[in-house]
Amino acid sequence: MMERRTLLKAGLAAGPWASVVGAADGPDAADVPVSEVPWQRKIRRVGQLNMTEHDPVALNVEEWADYWASLKVDAVLVSVTGILAFYQTKVPFHRKGKFLGDRDFFGDCCAAAKKRGIHVIARMSPDLNWEDAVQAHPEWFQRDQQGNVVHHTEDPRLFRTCMFSPYMTDYIPAIMREVNSLYDVDGIFTNAWPPLGNVPVCTCDECRRLPRPGTPDYWDKFNERTVYLWKLYDSIAKEKKPSNFYFANLGGGIRATPDLKRLGELCEWFQCDNQGRGGDDTPIWGCALQGRVCNAVQQGKMSTNVTGAWSTGAIRWRNAYKSPAEAQMWMDETVASGMVPYHHFIGGETGMGEDRRWLEPGRKYFNWTAKHDRHFVNRRSICNLGVVMGQRTHLFYTPPRGVAMAQYMDGMYYALLEGRFLFDFVHEDNLAPQDLQKYSALVLPNTALLSDEQCRQLRAYAASGGSLLATFETSMYTERNQRRADFGLADVFGIHKAGDVKGTNGNAYYARIEKPHEILAGFADTHWLPGAEYRLPIAPVDGPVLTVVPGFVAYPPELAYPPQPHTDEPAVVLREKGKSRLAYFPGDIERTMWRSGHTDLSRLLQNTIRWVSGGSAPVSVEGDGVIETFAWETEAGFAVHVLNYTNPNMHRGWIRNFYPIGAQKVRMKLPAGRRVTRVELLRAETNVPFRVTGGAIEFTIPKVVDYEVAAMYSA
Ligand SMILES: [Zn+2]
Repeated sequence: MMERRTLLKAGLAAGPWASVVGAADGPDAADVPVSEVPWQRKIRRVGQLNMTEHDPVALNVEEWADYWASLKVDAVLVSVTGILAFYQTKVPFHRKGKFLGDRDFFGDCCAAAKKRGIHVIARMSPDLNWEDAVQAHPEWFQRDQQGNVVHHTEDPRLFRTCMFSPYMTDYIPAIMREVNSLYDVDGIFTNAWPPLGNVPVCTCDECRRLPRPGTPDYWDKFNERTVYLWKLYDSIAKEKKPSNFYFANLGGGIRATPDLKRLGELCEWFQCDNQGRGGDDTPIWGCALQGRVCNAVQQGKMSTNVTGAWSTGAIRWRNAYKSPAEAQMWMDETVASGMVPYHHFIGGETGMGEDRRWLEPGRKYFNWTAKHDRHFVNRRSICNLGVVMGQRTHLFYTPPRGVAMAQYMDGMYYALLEGRFLFDFVHEDNLAPQDLQKYSALVLPNTALLSDEQCRQLRAYAASGGSLLATFETSMYTERNQRRADFGLADVFGIHKAGDVKGTNGNAYYARIEKPHEILAGFADTHWLPGAEYRLPIAPVDGPVLTVVPGFVAYPPELAYPPQPHTDEPAVVLREKGKSRLAYFPGDIERTMWRSGHTDLSRLLQNTIRWVSGGSAPVSVEGDGVIETFAWETEAGFAVHVLNYTNPNMHRGWIRNFYPIGAQKVRMKLPAGRRVTRVELLRAETNVPFRVTGGAIEFTIPKVVDYEVAAMYSA
């Protein structure tokens, strides 16, 4: 505490440490005495065995509780209901499971956990109910276009409830209050609401009064309802005791359905449902990306990602363990990105019986984290590069035909990793000066939807010396998804739209090199580079660095030459105004890189990111291999986390084995007045020598198997 105060007085007004100053008047756990920190912000580990209907007769409750106690978890989620009550409920239509008998299964689990000092969160799922409820309360349920109730896709005996109906304000609160009255719970959680992935399309009487689903107008009502229900449920949780709270499943990745900025303000515990990947073309970094989403909105409050030890992916085995290496990497990413690890499996009968392989690795991993808790309590991330996550763009923007929205961020993310950049995600609604002061540059990967106010904020950021890199249709739409005549950021980048989005006819366009520039470092012996698959033509500019050579056919080869070898249409626009560096690519260069894997495009992106950020990164990690890196100021000092993705299964699951990488040279600028007394590698469990020169600490991590944490003890 005293050290932090001293640091505040040292008056570090800018750069990656600027948020230290910002924290003085903002909510920051670091400034609150430990005794006043709410219990949920001290959670370091969470466990959940997702209970099945059969568990009241299949699960050994004492064994279950002993297991979680042996993992040193601070909280367990225990099912009160999904579609079935796990206790002797009196709430009408709250159906009891057929194996429950007269047993109080939830009560037994709750007591067993409490006896071991573990907090209990009552878990419920408000998304489905049975036929008898449909008969008695037709108004509770979603309707399709024909006005029929909507069956669940996997089990047609179940029907989808509507979140705008009294089901959510009568039935669900009745269960919450009943649970409060019977059990010593510490919080209430809803799974499967708010809806994951997509907003509901419903034609019930309530919903017919709403704007058309999929529109920003609908989203406003959806968010209003979500916030209303969240506050209602939180107030019910607090009826039990003031330290209790409510939280919900907030889905996976950037494409969460509710407004994450608004919920981040409400939410004590950001629970992500990004449980793992499968054998499809999903990159390994999905969990670390999730952590960045949480950090962008949680203001230092707790977040967890439910990590499925079960077999995730397109083909699922919910009751069989996955590849241990894959499960471990997902857990590594959870911890590295600043979330609390959450170990999860399905069913007592299967999880504690048929397939017990997930138990021991979880125990080993959690006990390792428990040994080093102080190094995983993060105060703030150390970096000066921000990547804007455009939630509205992800929800409402229509990319060119056949293009998946996720490809823009996938491509940019890959280039950032290849370039070994350290960065934060920045929510589009967090662009005020105090939000941006730690960043020297912002990257906007096709952030198509930006309001006039957001454009004004970005303009002010650039005017005050901040740098920007944007691609493709960034700022071409308002926050209501209305197309502008010209870019909202036209004046900032010095660009003007000169046509509609153009695709390619089999052979994408090229970018002709007009003159040398830093962003072309490493390109020799060529007059042109590959362009993007899609581009938005813009008007000519003075002294372009790259110009467009329009596309032509790939086949037949006789016609595969440029009929027009030179144009004045810019393929990139670069500007320098004072300290501010501005780069705009009219092509969807990051997405094209993702789709094609083209190394030139990745190099061009990396060079340009390096150019806009001005080479001022507070942390660098040099060495071979594809890694993802996080640097944190921690309770103990500082920590640099290195995730080793160098693996034949980086882009397609699952990881089978780890392939260790060699020496990684770390250099980190130290804030004024901070000394490091020791650098410990938490995975290798050894200290490494270090030196401090020019205000920066330098040391080498000799080897990284899957993950290493270089923990710096600082006085
Ligand atoms: Zn409805």
